[in-house]
Amino acid sequence: MKKKIFVCRRIPELALKRLAAEVELDVWPDELPPSRSELLKHVKGCDGILSLLSDRMDAEVFEQAGSQLRVVSNYAVGFNNIDVREAHQRGIKVGNTPGVLTEATADIAAGLILATARRFSESLEQVKRLEWKTWDPLGLLGLELRGATLGIVGMGRIGMALAKRMHYGWDMNVIYTARSDKPDAETLLSAKRVNLETLLRRADIVSLHADYNPSTHHLINSTTLGLMKSSAILINTARGGLIDQSALYHALKHGKIWGAGLDVTDPEPLPSDSPLREIARCVILPHIGSATVETRQAMADIAVNNLLAGLHGRPLPHEVRL
Ligand code: NAP
Repeated sequence: MKKKIFVCRRIPELALKRLAAEVELDVWPDELPPSRSELLKHVKGCDGILSLLSDRMDAEVFEQAGSQLRVVSNYAVGFNNIDVREAHQRGIKVGNTPGVLTEATADIAAGLILATARRFSESLEQVKRLEWKTWDPLGLLGLELRGATLGIVGMGRIGMALAKRMHYGWDMNVIYTARSDKPDAETLLSAKRVNLETLLRRADIVSLHADYNPSTHHLINSTTLGLMKSSAILINTARGGLIDQSALYHALKHGKIWGAGLDVTDPEPLPSDSPLREIARCVILPHIGSATVETRQAMADIAVNNLLAGLHGRPLPHEVRL
């Protein structure tokens, strides 16, 4: 009998075709994610689930699926939507898609640095609203980037890829935090590992790349924002939960920091009444870090490889281990 799989959203067609050739496939067809009750209904009796970051995978889902559930394959490198410990206790393997989205996400972080420092949002609005009157010697002045100090919070794959871009392209000095030393960053970029407090005090650009886990929840809050330079910008392409958004709003509104560029928020999408929308120097993107044709295809390939390996009892090519 064919194994049963629930795929929580449409992913690139080629990957779905590969799956359909081997398993009994149920793909959620809508643009928006399944509601909790729909999710619980569709996972019933499944041997595997291909989940997205918007789908919470926890004891209730595993219970509802049943004891035959072997694998949850996340279509993302981050896995904060999955209770991995609970999955492992039940013998369910968890997969993710590291590496293939590193460059695309680092590009978005670099783009947000430029967009925030050089005020792209306000500039685009000015043109659209027919408010561009002349070449203004004092209009839309931004921050010079060459030679700035870049503080990478979480020097993993994406942090390193951004640091390379900004060091080689903009002559930036790089400082970083991580849980362990990164010899490559020190050799290739002369980057120095410092503690978070030192990083926040020294950096002109603070860019967040740590995974979202209990140790990074609201890492950026009113206290830590208070350590940043008033001329500094904050970039987040990791997960919204790393920042206390209310504290960020107040810091931006009262000029405690210069600007912010966010590809991720908490929650997503940003609610219509979020005051952050009113802040001119807060550039917000709708979580497009990995959104290139090539990257999304590569993620789909890995997610399917993980899923099929899990179904057949083989080691996952990219398994999440705690
Ligand atoms: P990674 O290689 O695992 O890097 C994460 C880094 O965070 C590691 O270097 C880790 O340090 C560090 N870290 C963890 N906890 C920390 C803490 N408390 N303080 C300082 N550093 C800490 O992951 P990645 O592939 O670069 O991805 C990073 C994150 O980006 C993902 O978890 C995901 O949430 C997010 N992401 C977003 C998008 C998007 O579309 N915007 C796309 C891809 C990924 P050690 O190495 O020392 O353990």
